[in-house]
Amino acid sequence: MSEAKYLRFLRTKEELSNYIPIKTIGKGYFGEVKLVRKKQDGKVYALKRLAKTEMVSHEQLPRVRAERDALAESDSEWVVKLYTTFQDSTSLYLLMEYLPGGDLMALLIKYQIFSEDITRFYAAEMIMAIEAIHNLGFIHRDIKPDNILIDREGHVKLADFGLSKGFSKSHDHSYYRELLQKPAPPNNKPANRNSVNLDEIALTVSNRAQINEWRRSRRLMAYSAVGTPDYIAPELFTGQGYSFEIDWWSLGAIM
Ligand code: ADP
Ligand code: MG
Repeated sequence: MSEAKYLRFLRTKEELSNYIPIKTIGKGYFGEVKLVRKKQDGKVYALKRLAKTEMVSHEQLPRVRAERDALAESDSEWVVKLYTTFQDSTSLYLLMEYLPGGDLMALLIKYQIFSEDITRFYAAEMIMAIEAIHNLGFIHRDIKPDNILIDREGHVKLADFGLSKGFSKSHDHSYYRELLQKPAPPNNKPANRNSVNLDEIALTVSNRAQINEWRRSRRLMAYSAVGTPDYIAPELFTGQGYSFEIDWWSLGAIM
């Protein structure tokens, strides 16, 4: 998105009442993603809501900024488009294009195992997508099946830049090291298979309750491993620094 266009977005008077909720399409720790229809143009969008209280108490505001910046700066066909952001007293909102194909996790649950051809297709597209965001100077840092969305034509797009890091900005090696030093807070959030806050770092792994639910279902057993931070590169735990390679590690783990 051009800077002028982005500034126009920041200026537009947007509020929740401009949108009619249709259904919830994703739930995360800090809020949810809803399919909405804009009253003005009749078009559908995905609206991600982040609760301010949660964000503030977990010092997540830089994270929201990272997500907004990453999505807004990119005009890439490999990244979910962000149309605007707005807020009210309780929440921050990200208005995005709606991708009707769902996420790769849902596809994996549906098909259980992909054929080599299909795996090759998604891997190839993910390589293009990751390369594109790296060229924009962003490390995604949370590449996992539920952050890989599928568009109308079946192509992948990256979502959820909540953990992404602009490489030009100050480089924080301590995020994941801190994770190892702090006990996880009790998890009493509603069940969902998206982000769970292990601590204020908000490393996202899939929700334990949901995993247990999957475990009960034989059909889904193959995916129980998503409850672990399986896609996270080892250097994130050493505190010795990391770079763009961590996204490639995650892709390899997914494959
Ligand atoms: P979280 O930080 O809670 O993980 P995400 O941005 O990953 O938030 O969104 C959670 C889920 O909502 C995704 O896994 C996906 O299933 C769904 N989702 C998010 N954005 C979109 C979108 N633009 N179109 C369709 N579904 C979406
Ligand atoms: Mg996510």
